[in-house]
Amino acid sequence: MQRLVDGFHHFQKCVFPEKKKLFSELAAGQKPHSLFITCSDSRIDPFLLTHADPGEIFVVRNAGNTVPTSDLGAGGGESPTLEYAVRVLKVATIVVCGHSHCGAMAALLDPSLTNKLPAVRHWLTAAKHIKEEIEQGGLRPSERNDAEAVVKRNVLLQLENLQTYDFIEQAHKEGKLNLSGWFYRFESGEVETIEPGQQDFKPL
Ligand SMILES: [Zn+2]
Repeated sequence: MQRLVDGFHHFQKCVFPEKKKLFSELAAGQKPHSLFITCSDSRIDPFLLTHADPGEIFVVRNAGNTVPTSDLGAGGGESPTLEYAVRVLKVATIVVCGHSHCGAMAALLDPSLTNKLPAVRHWLTAAKHIKEEIEQGGLRPSERNDAEAVVKRNVLLQLENLQTYDFIEQAHKEGKLNLSGWFYRFESGEVETIEPGQQDFKPL
């Protein structure tokens, strides 16, 4: 706890004065340009990664950066966040960002890791198609035990899940909304990207 308190005092003394004008302007409302969906992992920081200021990015974070399909409703909190970001804030871009060394994706490959974590196991049903693909040979043999390939496949699957929401699909078709998948290799500071319909990730 002390680390948090010390950190806040540093923010109050050193950071806030520099951004006082920005925070004052943001009190009138937010107009983020992007919705960033990423993992809860402490090693991922969307604002640091994109050099963004407060007010620029709307964020969804959960284990494994997953998006429930629209038929699963508002249970996890992701759906209302998507709705608000696209329909009210009218973000121009949605990024789904997976990352290297993702514990959630490791648990997908090895369910024994979630033996004492029933909520995590249930949550990962949003990515169950990947498990089926691995078991049924849908992934290339070289990819089946490759954690990075599984993270990337998960990013693609979540881009597909996003498109099950009619307001996202419509805005995307009309060219008002970009959908982008990212793979962030934090240990080397690299990002690879993909868009719906593409086959391979490319360096950003
Ligand atoms: Zn993760």
